[in-house]
Amino acid sequence: MEFQRQKLTRRVVNDLKKRSISGVFFYMLVPPILFFTDGYLYRHLTESLIFLGVFSFICLFRLGHVFASRKMPDQWEVLNNRTFIVSVLLTALLWGLGSAYFLGQRGEPALHAIMLICTVGFCAGGVMSFMPLLYLAVAYNVLMLVPAIGAIFLKGDMPTLGSAMILYSAYLVLITLRGNAEYWKALENENLLEEKSRELEKASRTDVLTGLYNRRYFDELFELEWGLSSRRKTPLTLLICDIDHFKQVNDTYGHQAGDAYLKLVSSHLQTVFQRESDVVARYGGEEFVVLLPDRDAEQTRDLAERFRKNIAEAVLEYQGEKIQTTISTGISSCIPGSDMTRDAFLTRADNVLYEAKDSGRNRTVVDKQ
Ligand code: GH3
Ligand code: MG
Ligand code: MG
Repeated sequence: MEFQRQKLTRRVVNDLKKRSISGVFFYMLVPPILFFTDGYLYRHLTESLIFLGVFSFICLFRLGHVFASRKMPDQWEVLNNRTFIVSVLLTALLWGLGSAYFLGQRGEPALHAIMLICTVGFCAGGVMSFMPLLYLAVAYNVLMLVPAIGAIFLKGDMPTLGSAMILYSAYLVLITLRGNAEYWKALENENLLEEKSRELEKASRTDVLTGLYNRRYFDELFELEWGLSSRRKTPLTLLICDIDHFKQVNDTYGHQAGDAYLKLVSSHLQTVFQRESDVVARYGGEEFVVLLPDRDAEQTRDLAERFRKNIAEAVLEYQGEKIQTTISTGISSCIPGSDMTRDAFLTRADNVLYEAKDSGRNRTVVDKQ
């Protein structure tokens, strides 16, 4: 759960990075407009330029960092995310300190009015944007508003405005708490849904008893591999095996014992055919298939023989009983092309499997064509 939360938090921070870009442009645009109000810039050139310079610097840094971090390697992600958060908080603090300074000045009512509107607006915008990260949204609110509130109270001529700002800040915290909880609930539900749909997809291609691929998924992969091998003109080999006298196993030891034996066979099958490209599936009942791209019949025969011997020697101990039987295998190989269809290929493998059965079982027969 904690790991999930961390993973989601990283996703959220990356998302916030993207979302914060448009805000930064406004941060760069608004101060110059602000200082032209009523000719403030000409009356207070030094402090205006210092604020514009420092604030533009942090904004440009943020823009540059967001774009540069996209090109950085993954192992820098944690450092990049921290840098992003610190730079956001620094923006709020700089604005908070700047607005406190300007609001503390006397005799500039036009600038004060616009500064207040901008501070309140920026704060609301920041809190809404950063709401997914509770601590960031709250810290943003505090860093931006507390200096301004302090300046208003220190100046002392508008205590009502100061109190209204405190209420506003508290109101934003309440909205943040509620919005954050709703956001995370929605995000976790979405994540759960994604996980469930992945599980469902996996279940839809897995055989419940053995955990191998099921026939439906095998058919899909078979079609895919057939196309690939046909384009590349590479061999494709198909192996079909069937447990010998399995009905007898069921009849003698019961269906549950039969199920346990099917699991044993499937685990041996996976042990022998373990190349990543080998497609091992339960084809139905007590029949298994293995599709081997890029392997010819002779290579496959060696593996099939190893599998056959393993099974012949394997003894399943089930509720005090010792269960032992054998398997028969048919192998067919071809380079897919226009002279053969997938069905014909499957039939060839099936035919040699029945040759193996007819010639006494517990054997591997390779298609001669
Ligand atoms: P052969 O050597 O000719 O293959 O004989 P066999 O007895 O293995 O073949 P048959 O087709 O007569 O019997 C297959 C048996 O496999 C019958 C069926 O009950 C059993 N079977 C099929 N699916 C399952 C399963 O999921 N669990 C169990 N326990 N048995 C199964
Ligand atoms: Mg069968
Ligand atoms: Mg059988």
